Amino acid sequence: MKKVLILPGDNIGPEIVTEAVKVLHRVDNKFNLGIELDYAHLGGAGLDAQGSPCPQETLDKARQSDAILLGAVGGPQWDHVERHLRPEQGLLTIRSELDLFGNLRPAIMYPQLAHASSLKPEFVSGLDILIVRELVGGIYFGEPRGIRTLEDGQREGYNTYKYSESEIRRIGKVAFEAAMVRNKRLCSVDKSNVLEATVLWREIISDMASDYPEVELSHMYVDNAAMQLVKQPKQFDVLVTGNMFGDILSDTAAMLTGSIGMLPSASLEKNGRGMYEPCHGSAPDIAGQGVANPLATILSLAMMLRYSLSAPDAANAIEQAVSAVLDQGLRTADILTQGTKQVGTVEMGDAVVAAL
Ligand code: NAD
Repeated sequence: MKKVLILPGDNIGPEIVTEAVKVLHRVDNKFNLGIELDYAHLGGAGLDAQGSPCPQETLDKARQSDAILLGAVGGPQWDHVERHLRPEQGLLTIRSELDLFGNLRPAIMYPQLAHASSLKPEFVSGLDILIVRELVGGIYFGEPRGIRTLEDGQREGYNTYKYSESEIRRIGKVAFEAAMVRNKRLCSVDKSNVLEATVLWREIISDMASDYPEVELSHMYVDNAAMQLVKQPKQFDVLVTGNMFGDILSDTAAMLTGSIGMLPSASLEKNGRGMYEPCHGSAPDIAGQGVANPLATILSLAMMLRYSLSAPDAANAIEQAVSAVLDQGLRTADILTQGTKQVGTVEMGDAVVAAL
């Protein structure tokens, strides 16, 4: 019996998660996985139902599950609430409470979608890169932080960027091991020409390379990495970087593939338990219209089956089914191109189930 906790979240979250759950039921039956589902609130849904963007009940259920599937959280409905009650805070809380430090964000260019990218097809066709982002440290969590009033009366905002040696080593291990099962090239991204925290980052990652002699390690400053990602993205295999740089670079990589609606992600703790979610947000602008692309969530489910539920056959089957549906020419609005057929969220989910 494998316990999966479903966190639909806000806005398009419940719409896309419903489709992924249909797919999960299908592979559960087909591969006899013995999945047991439970549901809880996160984000604005948690705040509205239980007074917290990350209710205690959600954390308790999360700790008892083998894996978590999340839709997305946030939206203008909660713009007015205090910062510590904001939906996004719920996401940060669950990530840090479960110590989900290793964020894997693949950017894969399906050949069927090469024309949906803003880059010329020859630059992105066949693209397959993996960004490994540290998720629970760095400047997003560093203390002290805040906005203070200076002696001259003006206010100053401040944050702290720090990484300990052990934090760097554990994300480095995830990245080197990912590179080992891919094309054995790892690029570590830092800003060691300016930030001391990343001088240490570079030193530790370089030190770890001797444990992985087959992996070709390189280093790149983040500004250059941003440039190279749009100039010649296929030069990369695995990139590893800290929380803030990873946040920005993974969104850039996302757009190379044509749609953020296609990109899954995994956030892992040290024993392989994980939370799986699409890279995109809760898309309040299209919520309730039935047009959101559920494929990033469905592909997140495939990552869950591979990384946390030891069901690689089911994971492969889902990825093949997604590819088959694209081959059939079915597209949600975000990936629609000339000559393809527009479908809504539910039709897309049904098509994946049918292909399975
Ligand atoms: P967003 O990713 O929600 O939307 C950006 C654009 O992409 C929008 O035009 C949206 O319609 C489109 N889009 C996103 N997902 C799509 C999908 N599946 N299918 C089709 N189109 C899709 O980013 P945003 O607008 O900056 O943020 C909206 C809310 O989501 C904010 O409250 C933000 O804080 C939150 N957010 C949450 C997460 C998360 O839950 N992990 C991540 C990012 C943003």
